[in-house]
Amino acid sequence: MGEIDFKCVRLSDFTTIKLGGGSDMFVECRTDKDLLNAVSYAVGHGLPFHVLGGGSNTVFPDEGYCGVIVYVNTKGIVKSGDLFSVKAGERWDDFVGYSVSLGYSGIECLSGIPGSVGATPIQNVGAYGAEVSSVVECVKAIDVRSLKVVEFSNEECGFSYRDSRFKSGDKNRFIVTEVVFRLNANGIPEIKYKELDDYLGTYHGIYSLNNVRDAVMNIRRKKSMVYDESDGDSHSCGSFFTNPVLDSSEFESFVSVCKSLKLEVNSYRTGDRFKISAAWLIEKAGFEKGFTENGIGLSSKHTLAIVNRGGTASGLIKFSERIKESVYDKFKVKLEREPVVVFG
Ligand SMILES: Cc1cc2nc3c(=O)[nH]c(=O)nc-3n(C[C@H](O)[C@H](O)[C@H](O)COP(=O)(O)OP(=O)(O)OC[C@H]3O[C@@H](n4cnc5c(N)ncnc54)[C@H](O)[C@@H]3O)c2cc1C
Repeated sequence: MGEIDFKCVRLSDFTTIKLGGGSDMFVECRTDKDLLNAVSYAVGHGLPFHVLGGGSNTVFPDEGYCGVIVYVNTKGIVKSGDLFSVKAGERWDDFVGYSVSLGYSGIECLSGIPGSVGATPIQNVGAYGAEVSSVVECVKAIDVRSLKVVEFSNEECGFSYRDSRFKSGDKNRFIVTEVVFRLNANGIPEIKYKELDDYLGTYHGIYSLNNVRDAVMNIRRKKSMVYDESDGDSHSCGSFFTNPVLDSSEFESFVSVCKSLKLEVNSYRTGDRFKISAAWLIEKAGFEKGFTENGIGLSSKHTLAIVNRGGTASGLIKFSERIKESVYDKFKVKLEREPVVVFG
């Protein structure tokens, strides 16, 4: 077990929502060996540990974290034909920019998502009709039980909407060290999202990967969905709730509730299920954009992002529970939290 260089930090400085107390066992890992050492130390000393990437989907407790914070800051991209092997600590959006600059398509619609490459398979990040699962060739990781390096094919990752085996069944068991992506050298963007398609309409059907990346960045910036220190509405975890996916009997009940409330049903079909908009539910449950209480509020651009305007992590949880309860009371639909809430 190697020496560990622990630092004392404020965890709020390492998250986009700027919440969380202190950690005196924070270890920055710049190599895979550092990652192995840090996790071996934690396991060997019977300490809890938490893996931290860019902190854009994480809420730490106000009291801080008693255990080892394994901060993934490994770097490197190796290209071999259409395959890109990317170290977990690379910034996701840097990698998107790089692939677009080389003329490779596949992830241009995922431009502007904050955070690290290693976190992208965890919740199968997605936006504007694209999901990272469509380009993941394999994921390399450390199994914290055996401390051995393991590799998962795309199928073995168990991807679904904002989910994977790493977030559900095998939560906290694997530390992603590297993700291999298969991109397309043809450089032809694939647009599946109406808002983006409308935006690109100005190019009359002739647009490049760069045009798509710029369009996505512009749309996201307008909604404060690009993290920017100077834009308070982006001090969030992005969407705080996933869009509920209902089976047909749940959907029938939802439709009859909407009818009784004289509300037009807002949904779209995915296979034999129905996805409904969490933002719409929140709005119709009576919460307006910008609504704020005790320093925690909704983004002034849309209702799905909860923003820290000088509040606390416990205040954030209370605020989110209130929204969840109001939506359930009105529509009998349960909202699921998207970010990871860490307990001290
Ligand atoms: C303004 C804004 C916009 C956003 N827009 C989107 C969006 O459009 N689509 C979307 O899907 N998400 C979005 N998000 C959420 C977030 O950016 C993504 O979930 C991102 O992938 C999180 O990366 P991160 O490195 O910051 O993860 P962190 O917050 O550091 O970690 C998130 C989870 O992943 C785990 N984790 C991180 N790295 C590793 C690793 N190497 N190995 C194992 N586990 C790991 C952590 O333990 C934690 O459980 C947005 C967030 C913000 C603030």
